[in-house]
Amino acid sequence: MENNQLGFDSLAVHAGSFEDALGSAVSPIYQTSTFKFENADHGARCFSGEEDGFIYTRIGNPTIGELEKAVAALEHGYGGIATSSGMAAVNTVYLTYLASGKHMIGHHSLYGPSRSVIEGLYPKFGITSSFVDATNVENVIAAIRPETSLIFLETPANPSIEITDIKAICEVARQHNITVCVDNTFCSPYLQNPLDLGADIVVHSMTKFINGHADIVAGMIVAKTKEVYSKLRPVMVIMGCNMDPHQAWLTRRGLKTLGIRIDRAQENSMKVAAFLESHPKVEWVKYPGLKSHPQFELAKVQMRGPGAMISFELKGGLEAGKIMMNNVKMALLAVSLGGIETLIQHPAGMTHSKLSKDAKAAAGITDGLVRLSVGIENVEDIIADLDQALALV
Ligand SMILES: *Cc1c(COP(=O)(O)O)cnc(C)c1O
Repeated sequence: MENNQLGFDSLAVHAGSFEDALGSAVSPIYQTSTFKFENADHGARCFSGEEDGFIYTRIGNPTIGELEKAVAALEHGYGGIATSSGMAAVNTVYLTYLASGKHMIGHHSLYGPSRSVIEGLYPKFGITSSFVDATNVENVIAAIRPETSLIFLETPANPSIEITDIKAICEVARQHNITVCVDNTFCSPYLQNPLDLGADIVVHSMTKFINGHADIVAGMIVAKTKEVYSKLRPVMVIMGCNMDPHQAWLTRRGLKTLGIRIDRAQENSMKVAAFLESHPKVEWVKYPGLKSHPQFELAKVQMRGPGAMISFELKGGLEAGKIMMNNVKMALLAVSLGGIETLIQHPAGMTHSKLSKDAKAAAGITDGLVRLSVGIENVEDIIADLDQALALV
């Protein structure tokens, strides 16, 4: 069957897979750095692009290619470009669409390193940036300059769980000929398809939901068109941001269960969010599935479900947060997210500690903010664990 006739979970299981001579049920790993040419002419044809043959794994590899095809199919894009990490994907987009004299607009609470690399490393190449609250489209419009070449969004954002209207911003960007890239890590293609809403590029940290088992660091770029793909791919290759075949094979395996993992984690998250919202020691909870979320209505339109990421503020700030995190028993006190295990972390002291005080305040990262990535364990156990830790606060 053609890909466009299959549902999400069928594609997650089968897309990109290829037959091998032995009929193995799972595509084998091509754990090789290089490929033999049949003869000199064949080599020449591969290099000139006349023939699609494999040359060298940094450029392309069948195992990596399978994963690229699968994620591109799930994101409704022209092609995927796998990278060694999510940050390699982000930097490949930056290096492709930014240049000396160019300007980028980013949402103010992007994933910490996605913002700090633009503010810390890229200025020496003459690249400028504005980070604005993109939940209000007017702020993005006000930040546009003649030299703006890239708008970089993340929705829901990390760790504020703020939601940006992708469609509205893409319409504005189109009028100004600006490329839009959306970091879709928090949703995965199961819950949101930014390319369908007008974005040109999607990036993923596949370290999170797509692989989902906390055993791989990996990234992916999906380009909407051949033109965008043809700009991005050579930059990944020349920068050496490629994935390793074994990493690709494991990520392809993780991807097969994406839908059912998110279904379960999301069902758990609704219950955990409701529990936290009614807890006397919790100041507020941000979860797109709660009516109290400021963009509850937008989330319902833009996302197919509220996901498995919850942020909440403890009464008692930093100290209360520390007590809670030192006392959880089943949840792991760890960064990262989107895995089968429940993870808890403290952005102000951990992932976003490199941001200035002002930048933290602007992005809503308060001292008592706790971020929870809800796993697929039994929800009674997750709630009991949080409850006993909260009792000690
Ligand atoms: C983790 C993460 C990244 C970076 O990905 P790595 O795989 O750690 O390099 C980028 N964006 C978001 C939203 C993330 O959560």
